[in-house]
Amino acid sequence: MKRLVILGGGESGVGTALLGKTKGYRVFVSDKGEIKKKYKDVLLNNEIEFEDEQHTESKILNADLVMKSPGIPERVALVKQIRAARIQVVSEIEFASMFTTATLVAITGSNGKTTTASLTHHILKQELDIGLAGNIGDSFAKQVLEEDHDNYVLEVSSFQLDDIKSFKPKIAVLTNISPDHLDRYDYKFENYIASKFRVVENQTEDDYFIYDADDEVIAEYLKAHQIQSKKLPFSLTRVMEQGAYLRQNEIIITIDNNQIIMPANNLALEGKHNVKNAMAASTVAHLLKIRKQTIRDSLENFQGVEHRLESVLKINKVQYINDSKATNVNATYFALESMAAPTVWIVGGVDKGNEYRELFPFINEKVKAIICLGADNAKLVKTFSNMVDQVVETQSMTEAVKLAYKLASAGDNVLLSPACASFDLFESYEDRGRQFKKAVRNL
Ligand code: ADP
Repeated sequence: MKRLVILGGGESGVGTALLGKTKGYRVFVSDKGEIKKKYKDVLLNNEIEFEDEQHTESKILNADLVMKSPGIPERVALVKQIRAARIQVVSEIEFASMFTTATLVAITGSNGKTTTASLTHHILKQELDIGLAGNIGDSFAKQVLEEDHDNYVLEVSSFQLDDIKSFKPKIAVLTNISPDHLDRYDYKFENYIASKFRVVENQTEDDYFIYDADDEVIAEYLKAHQIQSKKLPFSLTRVMEQGAYLRQNEIIITIDNNQIIMPANNLALEGKHNVKNAMAASTVAHLLKIRKQTIRDSLENFQGVEHRLESVLKINKVQYINDSKATNVNATYFALESMAAPTVWIVGGVDKGNEYRELFPFINEKVKAIICLGADNAKLVKTFSNMVDQVVETQSMTEAVKLAYKLASAGDNVLLSPACASFDLFESYEDRGRQFKKAVRNL
């Protein structure tokens, strides 16, 4: 019996443990932190050996195969030992994909993964047996074991791609690339770019690669590197003979000689970035032969994903919008771009080396007041106080929302789009978004 050691007892780790056990591995789960009770119960019920708050090297370095949770960085000493011992390390998507022949749609990118994956799933599920997995919901491994769908839409992070070997999606989608998570890539942007492009690494000419042709980083990479799969780019600005583009208020999608035209003015999601996400999702759907009317209806009735430009409430004709998931400048760029009214902007948190310059035109044009919400707001105050009359500081969500209520007048928006991580004042971006919604509802 082969020994499978799983580092990390979260959703992907426990899913892998269940699948591994069924497939005949001797499984051991080890987590340096505390494993949540709900996962411990699953491991106990399935008689899977585990430990938490420690790593016992003797039980780990004898593995035949290691599944490392995407959250664990390479620099951790134990991971270095595993590498030195030449034990094979795989990610959860690699492991799970060994046990399914389903058609895989893998969606990666710096921003827009969850939105595009959810939208794609929403369209495809109308006509196909399909699971939504990856960094979203139940783990891919668990679904392969328990649900065995014919198709999967997978939201795939660069960390999941770092440890693939033969993972081969039929359709790969790359939404965009902007600097993020560079601490995990030796602070080299090129390493992060290469990691994202691993999504096409095992594809052949029978597979498809859908990507944003307007993204300069992607375009540069494609100039310098050959890829095997059929390219289906999408663009907001240029005609694409294959792939998708925008013509006035229509999305034109062409695959070989087969063209469909969709209206772009009734999309449920707002903002140019969401037109891109809609193009990517519709191209996948067209490839998988979903009917045009189904695609059209689905684009119009998609409810969106929590914490992504989510409309919360309108109070005294002021619209409150929760974009807590905007943890980098690029995401906030698209949020501000999509604001059609004067905006009170709540920003701040853990700065990941942010460069705010690209936001300046929107600040001048649309932002009437800025509320800084972080443990350290100095950089924000310095950057923006010459551009906007009102720049105020706070360290609490309740106070931030009360201030926003005072500063906004009828017809304005109040936008939480922090451009920063949440860990200084909140548990997570979800916690930050929920606290925002609660504070708005309490106004
Ligand atoms: P991810 O899963 O890649 O983090 P999400 O769909 O959760 O992406 O969106 C993260 C943030 O980026 C949100 O603020 C969202 O409004 C914004 N966003 C969504 N799609 C795009 C896109 N195509 N380009 C840039 N920003 C986007």
